[in-house]
Amino acid sequence: MPDSRPELLTLGQDLLPYPESPAERTRWIKRLRPERALIDHEQPVAVFVEREPNAQGELEEVLTVFLATRECPWHCLMCDLWKHTSTSPPKVGAIPRQIEQALTNFPNVKTIKLYNSGSFFDPQSIRPQEDKEIAQLLSRFSRVIVESHPLLIGDRARRFRDQLGGQLEIAVGLETVDEPTLEKLNKRVTLGDFERMARWMEIEWIDLRTFILVRSPFQSEESGRIWACRSIDFAIDSLGAKVASLIPTRGGNGALELLSKQGLFSPPKLESLESAIAYGLNRGGCRIFADVWNLELLTECSFCFPTRRERLQIINQTQRIPPAALCAHCGSNPQ
Ligand code: SF4
Ligand SMILES: [Zn+2]
Repeated sequence: MPDSRPELLTLGQDLLPYPESPAERTRWIKRLRPERALIDHEQPVAVFVEREPNAQGELEEVLTVFLATRECPWHCLMCDLWKHTSTSPPKVGAIPRQIEQALTNFPNVKTIKLYNSGSFFDPQSIRPQEDKEIAQLLSRFSRVIVESHPLLIGDRARRFRDQLGGQLEIAVGLETVDEPTLEKLNKRVTLGDFERMARWMEIEWIDLRTFILVRSPFQSEESGRIWACRSIDFAIDSLGAKVASLIPTRGGNGALELLSKQGLFSPPKLESLESAIAYGLNRGGCRIFADVWNLELLTECSFCFPTRRERLQIINQTQRIPPAALCAHCGSNPQ
């Protein structure tokens, strides 16, 4: 195996097969990365308010904060979150200062998503000794949503829960329940790990939100749609998730571009996302959302795209499926 010099990949890199071992996969994924963005540990990457229905069906404002911090120690095949992270941890106090800044202009919002492009419970990203100060800053929120890899959810999450004034919810990337594909994603987690995590969270009164990929790498359009639906079933029936958020797998991290050249990855069509959310809402059991970021990459039809995008936003906010019109240009007929 060649060493890690990136120039070695430029010659015949289309032929480099996806490795079998996790360590080699990590090297393969990292070598293909494009440049990361420059981030400042004194400022959050993004702060905005979105509207999302709560468990009672009431539409409420959610303050969403992307903290600038060190990158996640895992290297999942489809992940591009590292682009807005650093290679070193922030200085002591930087994360609480980012949170203070983020809260300044939104005094009345009661739910917060505090995302850090990795795991809140990763000590290299968010220092455990800062949890108490962070919890105090968040004391006015009735719900605090953080994200984490399943293997980092444990005693620290319990202590953080006890320090908060509101309900703790943890968002976890379930990705897919297609086990051979899950293994290839390099997340280094099994469905059994998810089940153990969910049982622990239920006992600890911590709510679970899941992220589910629509058409993972190595899946066809049809199998991607079917596995997204099975993943919704697993999230609800086996994990007791309160939310399943459907993420169309998109390129842009280098690794997926190479898999695409090898015929092993394509983003899903818009209709697969539409049919997966319709499936989830028809079966019921938890709130289902479709991620609409960069949705234009999923269809080439500019005639029906604006209507279909708006329809998905309506579905997200109402959790109901409005009728859809047949597109005279591309023939799509959303479910
Ligand atoms: S665990 Fe999450 S943040 Fe970390 S590499 Fe995987 S998908 Fe990205
Ligand atoms: Zn169309």
